[in-house]
Amino acid sequence: MRLICINCPKGCELEVSVDGDKVTVTGQGCPRGETYGRAEATNPTRMVTGLVKVAGSRRPLPVKTRTAIPKRLISDVTNLLANTTVIPPKRIGDVILSDVCGTGVDVVATADF
Ligand code: SF4
Repeated sequence: MRLICINCPKGCELEVSVDGDKVTVTGQGCPRGETYGRAEATNPTRMVTGLVKVAGSRRPLPVKTRTAIPKRLISDVTNLLANTTVIPPKRIGDVILSDVCGTGVDVVATADF
């Protein structure tokens, strides 16, 4: 598979091949590219950002996962966020959903409300 490394503006074009347990990455300009290529080939992850409803307000609260989560669980997390309502006050960094969808990662507030 061909990938563009997104870890820095250089955007190296990576070639990643998987043969059983063996993952080979070429084209990287630094070690971060190899790490990224391996992760994309075996367990791609992404940060998730979104909005949750706030009880008594028309304005939503912006949230994000504290770290990247497996890409295959993104729609589960966004569906859960769409059905979540919090009660103010909330502070930046407050945990809104803990261990979201069994990922071991918390969803946290990214603004005070
Ligand atoms: S491989 Fe290294 S140099 Fe190339 S885009 Fe990724 S981080 Fe930047």
